[in-house]
Amino acid sequence: MKYVCAFLFISITSSLVAQRNFDGVEITSEQLTDNIYVLYGAGGNMGLAIGEEYAYLIDDQFAPLSEKIQSAIAQITDKPVRFLVNTHWHGDHVGGNRNFAESGAIILANDNVRKRMSTPQERRGQMTTPWPHKALPQITFTEAITLHLNESQSMHVMHVNDSHTDGDSYIYFPESNVIHMGDNFPDGYPYIDLGSGGNVDGLIQNLSMALAMVDEDTQIIRGHGKVANKTHLQEFHNIVKTLRDRVSAAIDNGKSLEEALAMGLSKEWDDDYGQGFIDGSEVITAIYKSLKSD
Ligand SMILES: [Zn+2]
Repeated sequence: MKYVCAFLFISITSSLVAQRNFDGVEITSEQLTDNIYVLYGAGGNMGLAIGEEYAYLIDDQFAPLSEKIQSAIAQITDKPVRFLVNTHWHGDHVGGNRNFAESGAIILANDNVRKRMSTPQERRGQMTTPWPHKALPQITFTEAITLHLNESQSMHVMHVNDSHTDGDSYIYFPESNVIHMGDNFPDGYPYIDLGSGGNVDGLIQNLSMALAMVDEDTQIIRGHGKVANKTHLQEFHNIVKTLRDRVSAAIDNGKSLEEALAMGLSKEWDDDYGQGFIDGSEVITAIYKSLKSD
């Protein structure tokens, strides 16, 4: 009997751990310009722009946080969130879609975001179930769409090359010198989600494109982590490009994935960049497979 109890205890504990608890999560905000903010909580960073009549939200973390996010927004503005843009389809960026749609938001994203959200997908070895119809973007675009916040400010939503996924967008506020780069720019090694059409060369091209768009004063909202600047972006670009070139050379020398992993190709950055979601061996594996599949 004791053994049965111990077994039950273990299975209950692990299922509780699997069901993430958001009770302790607090939503905090940081003001970047007169009318643009970044909101932090648990999951992908959110951008918030206040227009003449409406509030515009970028990503929405997880569904259990929607009420807290709405109260954090209410502290900043009494304008309703009318438009919600998804940087890509991952659950820590679109989890609140349905709640915001039910509160009156119109959701926009690249075509592939809606495609992947509406069909089962393989993520890190597990299959996802399709999202309910109400959580899907109602307006999708192929290349780009521009939202006009007021008489003088705009918000450019630009689909970029396949990189983190095949549905990534940058959201650029040219008059305010702010850009939200989604998970093309995280706070550690990049996650190249090969199952969602991710690609290392596309990522490097996108990072180069972002470098050409920004200047020393640009405030860069990353998918995760604190607001960054051009110097941080330059460093991240250099690391990703160096890793890509090292893995490419290993492939050219006939190295198997196991041999490439044993070479310590990411060693000098593992302490700073490999302690979070993606570690050194995961980033090398993804780059290796991405280059092999090209
Ligand atoms: Zn992501």
